[in-house]
Amino acid sequence: MLKVQSIADALNRWAPSKLAEEWDNVGLLTGDPSAGVEKILVCLDVGLGAIERAVEIGAQMIVAHHPMIFRPIKNVRLDRPLGRRLSLLLKNDIAVFAAHTNLDSAIDGVNDVLASKLGLIDVKPLGEASDEPSLGRLGRLVEPMSAAEFAAHVKRALGADYVRLSDAGSFPIKKVGICGGAGADFIMRAKFYGADAFVTGDVKYHEAQTAIDNGIHVIDAGHFATEHPIVEVIAARLRAEFDGIEIIEFDGETDVFRIV
Ligand SMILES: [Zn+2]
Repeated sequence: MLKVQSIADALNRWAPSKLAEEWDNVGLLTGDPSAGVEKILVCLDVGLGAIERAVEIGAQMIVAHHPMIFRPIKNVRLDRPLGRRLSLLLKNDIAVFAAHTNLDSAIDGVNDVLASKLGLIDVKPLGEASDEPSLGRLGRLVEPMSAAEFAAHVKRALGADYVRLSDAGSFPIKKVGICGGAGADFIMRAKFYGADAFVTGDVKYHEAQTAIDNGIHVIDAGHFATEHPIVEVIAARLRAEFDGIEIIEFDGETDVFRIV
């Protein structure tokens, strides 16, 4: 039978853990590498709902984007959410593997998937040496768009309920920087490399204000909407690589925010 380690190896070939940021916590977080796997649940977050689904369908492994253990933990209390989640995983022998910032940087990872959803062309890493892996991406629009047109395009392309636009002026958008999740730290880098607009999630007031001051539009499409497309890509990749195991995409995840 296929082992947890074989799945981990395949994910590490795609998104090597050395690509992860140093503050990150990626790889196998719970479980036995030598345990057998017949069913895998793929999700963005290892929340209680995802674990309960894994138990219900008899999955031996969960592959997720966000690491469920991120900071060192000081207790495993069953009256607290993380303790309950860990307990449920261990009682049911469920392995958890996380590919986080390594999958953001990886070729065909989170940011390449986002670039392709947005229809960007000439996509390359957003970094000093732009053939080196880097978290974000820089690409071009096929046709220039106004800030309002591009914001509407991003909303449609990601199926987001809403996006927030920080409009930096009437200049058109030709070059676009992106970073799925919380990528506002890269706005100025994108500007430096010639981006007219930046797409990410979790943008704060002063970050948007700085972007406007520096002449770059920002579209905050939300942490969830900019990253969730990776779930089906992880699942498809594992299906293509492994025969005889069942890969299920968790369909119970939604954005933690809704508009009222
Ligand atoms: Zn994220």
